[in-house]
Amino acid sequence: MKKWVVLLLLAVLIGNSYMQRQQKEGDAGRMEGDAGNPTVLAAEKNGNRRSIELSEAQTYGGNLILVNSAHPVREEGVLPDIVALAAHPELTEGYGLLEADTRLSAAVAERFGAMIEAAAEDGVTHFRISSGYRDMEEQRRMYEAKGADYALPPGRSEHNTGLSLDVGSMLGEMGSSPEGEWLIRHAAEHGFILRYPKDKTEITGIQYEPWHFRYVGLPHSMIIEEHGLALEEYAAFLRKKGIIQAEANGERYEIQVVAVPGHATAHVPADAEVELSGDNQGGVIVTSRLK
Ligand SMILES: [Zn+2]
Repeated sequence: MKKWVVLLLLAVLIGNSYMQRQQKEGDAGRMEGDAGNPTVLAAEKNGNRRSIELSEAQTYGGNLILVNSAHPVREEGVLPDIVALAAHPELTEGYGLLEADTRLSAAVAERFGAMIEAAAEDGVTHFRISSGYRDMEEQRRMYEAKGADYALPPGRSEHNTGLSLDVGSMLGEMGSSPEGEWLIRHAAEHGFILRYPKDKTEITGIQYEPWHFRYVGLPHSMIIEEHGLALEEYAAFLRKKGIIQAEANGERYEIQVVAVPGHATAHVPADAEVELSGDNQGGVIVTSRLK
């Protein structure tokens, strides 16, 4: 298995005044457009840029949204391609389903399948999905049945987005099984993160869950792993860094997070392929795949 390496090649350091503005939640400074944004001015020196208009609705959806008790999922945060996995045998090769009616985003299931295929090459083959997408009604029933210690209220669970799934091993406890150990080592190479790690329980507010994986996509999963971050910490990390470049899977990326108070403009490398995701905290993370 090839080992991917993420390199933070460049961190454009940004002016103190901008950082202070960004760090103060609700500060009036965040309400400005980014025409005078030092990160943009610095980046423009690096070559041709084009503008992308961003709207507030985009802060609520995408692979990088933070969903927890303080940041409920909005309508825009539910992936539009939720499917019943059992009806798509091409998406469920190489692993089992604990429940026949398990649903998930088709795109996320495709990435998960590719990861399971890579695990099989390493001889690790006993994966089973025990939970995928839950709609608000299912989440409500679970919350009412299990209580606040074991379930999250509707809208506060990542399972309500289609981006997350619980993965088990048919060989035993996930934490100590070959499946659990393989995923801890390799999930980030495939765009997934262990969402509730042992050493982040105070930040996530959730106990260690060796079974709960969340899709965030490359190169974000690699950066999150490299820097030992919880998803709660990632958007703030990006805000502090300004514009960063990262390398994953042989591709080079530029990443920036833009505060979108109603409306904003992102300036991206002119010929880059751009992917947008809200952070569900008032910003849009702009990922440009560099040519
Ligand atoms: Zn879960």
